[in-house]
Amino acid sequence: MIMRHPLIMTPGPTQVHEEVRRAMSIEPTNPDLDENFFEFYKNTCNKIKRLLNTNNDVLILDGEGILGLEAACASLIEPGDRVLCIDNGIFGNGFGDFAKMYGGNVVYFKSDYKKSIDIKELEEFLKEDSDFKVATLVHCETPAGIVNPVDEICPLLKKYGIVSIIDSVSAIGGELVKVDEWNMDIVLGGSQKCLSAPPGLTFLSISDDAWNIISNRKIPIAGFYCNIGVWKNWYEDKWFPYTQPISDIYALDCAIDRLLSKNDYVYRHKKIANAVRMAIVNSGLSLYPLEGFSNTVTTILVPEGVSYRNIYNDMLKDHNIMIAGAFDYLKDKVLRIGHMGENCYEEKLYITLKALDSTLRKYNIKLKGEIHKYFIDEI
Ligand SMILES: *Cc1c(COP(=O)(O)O)cnc(C)c1O
Repeated sequence: MIMRHPLIMTPGPTQVHEEVRRAMSIEPTNPDLDENFFEFYKNTCNKIKRLLNTNNDVLILDGEGILGLEAACASLIEPGDRVLCIDNGIFGNGFGDFAKMYGGNVVYFKSDYKKSIDIKELEEFLKEDSDFKVATLVHCETPAGIVNPVDEICPLLKKYGIVSIIDSVSAIGGELVKVDEWNMDIVLGGSQKCLSAPPGLTFLSISDDAWNIISNRKIPIAGFYCNIGVWKNWYEDKWFPYTQPISDIYALDCAIDRLLSKNDYVYRHKKIANAVRMAIVNSGLSLYPLEGFSNTVTTILVPEGVSYRNIYNDMLKDHNIMIAGAFDYLKDKVLRIGHMGENCYEEKLYITLKALDSTLRKYNIKLKGEIHKYFIDEI
């Protein structure tokens, strides 16, 4: 059977370029024994350092983004530690659950789910209570399409001596990330979002302050796969804690090369995101967020008179384009278009918005003009 794959315009996983798929098919060596592979792995980590603007250690772990998130919590949090969970959305709130799993005594700083974190409010909160070992924060709230000002939040946390764990899975490669300048302690990403590599890998940068916590725990880390500590001397010892997913890493390396070869990639994401938003608003539809719009995903309220399911099904069936909805409290209320990595190009957004326009018209949704035309006007 020949599969006619749809154009995947979801906010991850994203389209994987043919070059990246070819890299995946390179004949693997034995990654535990072949010294060349240790160099290859290190070199890929160095490319990630460039993406993150950091000299901190970087590791690639064999599991999807959630592994990075859980490994950071498992490695930094001891039972009874006070953890600040900065929460303005579904992923932000869920981070608190991971902290609790490892015994964290979690306190939530909750803010408006339709806006990015207000730095003034957070500052007021910390003036009252700042006795936290660790804080968790999501850079881009993917379900809502909101980006948080990590450039202001992380330095503030550092001022109070709080070590930050930042989930930047849907931001790295599409938003500016300056780990060293902004004092970000652990920053984690995934292969399948803006880097447009196949799903299956997470990577993270680890600051000296984070390593200090890991090295000076009272209670050893309960686990192995989520234990960042076991990696401390991997390069010097030429030792991996488990056999590396070598083909996935070949693909990731190639995908990062593709991204880095376009050094305007943050600007490109910003420009496309802006044009998509303007097209949505000008045509009379509504965005979910009130402010703090993400460069990588646009979240649109499902207009009255049509269901999310119908839009999703018709876009797929009639146009062979896959968009996404959301989950939890946003289930059936929004539709999401990803403009990440390989998907963040004018022609892909044009045909996606044209398909959306045609689908909404089928359900007699009133539009002020053609969505895709507004997009072109803005680009
Ligand atoms: C995609 C994503 C993850 C990884 O979660 P999956 O749903 O398993 O792909 C983690 N955090 C954020 C913010 C994400 O967007």
